[in-house]
Amino acid sequence: MNLTMKETAAKLKAAEKILVTAHIHPDGDAIGSTLSMWLALRQLGKSAQIYLDDVIPTNLLFLPHVDAIKRPTADEKFDADLLVVLDTSTDRIGKVAAMTDAPILNIDHHVTNSNKDDNDLYLEHDAAATCEIMLALCHELGVEVTKEIATCIYTGIVTDTGFFNYSCTTSKTFHAAAELVDLGVEPNYISEQIEKRTLADVKVMSAALQTMQLYFDGKVAGMFIDAEIEKMADTTEGLVDLIRVINTVEIAFILRYQDEKTCRASLRSKGMDVSKIAKSLGGGGHIRAAGCTLHTNFDDAKNILLKTLGEYFKA
Ligand code: AMP
Ligand code: MN
Ligand code: MN
Repeated sequence: MNLTMKETAAKLKAAEKILVTAHIHPDGDAIGSTLSMWLALRQLGKSAQIYLDDVIPTNLLFLPHVDAIKRPTADEKFDADLLVVLDTSTDRIGKVAAMTDAPILNIDHHVTNSNKDDNDLYLEHDAAATCEIMLALCHELGVEVTKEIATCIYTGIVTDTGFFNYSCTTSKTFHAAAELVDLGVEPNYISEQIEKRTLADVKVMSAALQTMQLYFDGKVAGMFIDAEIEKMADTTEGLVDLIRVINTVEIAFILRYQDEKTCRASLRSKGMDVSKIAKSLGGGGHIRAAGCTLHTNFDDAKNILLKTLGEYFKA
């Protein structure tokens, strides 16, 4: 069922033991929204815990209370009366899904979230980030937005908007950011932390650029992070933006090796709807930024992706 903001706040207020999670391969919005939700719930006197079935990217370890995020062990259970799933549909939370049978409250901004299992869902697909929703939700809940909460929320907003560059950025986003700065957020500090890369990752950037290929009269550009390059990388976040800027390019993608039978693709566009392409391959996302996981080897994944893109350009 689709909930209003008021109903969403009421669900949170009615619960006592709350498990908070977000999508695997977490980004700033996933981590920022779980931490701000956790801080808000604790302020309301709730017993809350964050579980995330993945590692936290190094450049997000600066976030306040990031140590509170636990990773579930094999069959770990959690006694909860509500499972809050942030920044994703409920199928991308890994082992956390099996930790509890509690009812789900899903809060998201992905246009591709089709709420297959008919959970309680607050979906605001024109919100720039789940963290933008989090700010409004804190107000609805009567939670004081402390500097710590504001820092987490601001991080989610700037990572999902590419520092206010992407088309999901609205005046609401800037109003939210202004409010957060008034609450003590330090934009330069946060930008510096987020943009930090290891030397190895800068080398990966160079190696990735060497793999770049153009397709379909230069309308598509792709990069290929094979097993060897992947081994060197701490994060490949943001790499796809290096080639999206090429003047002929309408869609940029990066294909990443995960293991012998798994690859991940990230798609970015300047206006074409890549969420449809990602969705047709079992993934999802937004119009201009989407992704999918391909359960096959690297060469097949590359062929499948290029074939799908080819069909899209023909249509
Ligand atoms: P990424 O390319 O990983 O930065 O993801 C771009 C957008 O697509 C984000 O909003 C992701 O949440 C979404 N996305 C990426 N991979 C998937 C997937 N396998 N299924 C659904 N959504 C995805
Ligand atoms: Mn995300
Ligand atoms: Mn997001």
